[in-house]
Amino acid sequence: MTEASLGKRAPEAYLARLKAARANAYVPYSAHPVAALLVTDSGEVFCSCNVETAHFKSVCAEAGAISALISAGEKRIREVWILGPGPKPCPPCGDCRQRIHEFADDHTRIHLVDETGRIMSSSGVADLLPEAFGGP
Ligand SMILES: [Zn+2]
Repeated sequence: MTEASLGKRAPEAYLARLKAARANAYVPYSAHPVAALLVTDSGEVFCSCNVETAHFKSVCAEAGAISALISAGEKRIREVWILGPGPKPCPPCGDCRQRIHEFADDHTRIHLVDETGRIMSSSGVADLLPEAFGGP
């Protein structure tokens, strides 16, 4: 958590999109709905939820949002906002930390928010994935 993010909240528009996406999460096996919202350098916003299937090769919310970002021709993530199902922060899994790293830089911030949009944690990619493998 950085000092600059202490006590801050997600923009209302981001929180509304996160809540709407999370409400559509397809999570019949884990009952753990998550939404992730990405903001690019150009200000474009991409949001997704997690989707589970019976063979347990689920798609994380972050992965879905990154696919949408790449499909739209974007390449850089400026901000990541994640809303989980409960009062605790919902950090990205190991796979998603690597995915975020691929399209992030030293200025990218990953914000974990609660129901009210309060930022509970704000990290850089290097904080979440030290000594990361590869990437451009
Ligand atoms: Zn993940």
